[in-house]
Amino acid sequence: MAIPFVPRIDDAPRAKPQRVTPLIERVIADNPSKFTYHGTGTYIVGGRECAVIDPGPRLESHRLALAAALEGRTVVGIVVTHCHGDHSPLAAWLHETTGAPRFAIGPHRQYQGWVDEDDRFPDEEDDTEKVGVDDEEKETIDLGFAPDVAVRDGETFLSTREFSMAAVATPGHTSNHMCVAMPEEGTLFTGDHVMGWSTTVVSPPDGDMRAYIDSMHKVIARNDSILWPTHGGPVTDPQPFLAAYLGHRLERERQIVAEIAAGNTTIPGIVRVVYAGVDKRLHRPARRSVWSHLRKLCDDGVVATADGGAPRLLGEYRITR
Ligand SMILES: [Zn+2]
Repeated sequence: MAIPFVPRIDDAPRAKPQRVTPLIERVIADNPSKFTYHGTGTYIVGGRECAVIDPGPRLESHRLALAAALEGRTVVGIVVTHCHGDHSPLAAWLHETTGAPRFAIGPHRQYQGWVDEDDRFPDEEDDTEKVGVDDEEKETIDLGFAPDVAVRDGETFLSTREFSMAAVATPGHTSNHMCVAMPEEGTLFTGDHVMGWSTTVVSPPDGDMRAYIDSMHKVIARNDSILWPTHGGPVTDPQPFLAAYLGHRLERERQIVAEIAAGNTTIPGIVRVVYAGVDKRLHRPARRSVWSHLRKLCDDGVVATADGGAPRLLGEYRITR
């Protein structure tokens, strides 16, 4: 299926700070992948007194690029949108070096008793192992991260003479995800909630499709003038982009319901049809996204599990009538 929103391509050099607006510099980490696209974009906001959003992965070239860009400046805040391995790990180093407080909604939520079902399906033709996916291509979680200041939704948690930053809680990609508003430039830093190049992976148990869709409506209602995602280029026309981005997600949901109605009742089966045009290395995260849709659809009463139990990755589904 064609992607109805136009991806914002990014080909800026990596490990090299670039000024992108009067208040914002961006340093792209040299960690391109199926998840990070061109690489993690770390934002430095402000002049002499600055804040750093998503310091990025533990990567020496990135750490050195940030250290050079921050030379002679005072870091007044370290802001983390969520605790995935490509966003938060260097916050520890930056906090140690600068003493600046780390701001986030909270640490990554831990799930007791959660069984992460094995989602390798060895007998299917698009077995991810055959196309060389390894664990490095999974989104890793930085469980070591904890903020010094837990911010609340809507709170202006940082202000300097030049800029201010407010938290916009956007659970969905992760339960502790936040976007960061900087009203001085009409900017919303969207982390992984809205990416410039692709839809976001929503992976249970921490990823939650209903929360994600609610958070999309919340961002649409804000009417910011520009979005700066962590991955991919800026979105300078947020309203049509966001409408198409959400539309794409809802279209996926309709496709999933249609597949089940047509007798295609398992997650790998649905992914094979609905994600037929997508790189097979992304089928594994796609299965988790479909699962997340099905958890929501079961909740909505549109779909039920064939065995009447909880919606599982390995389960079978039917339409409720
Ligand atoms: Zn992420």
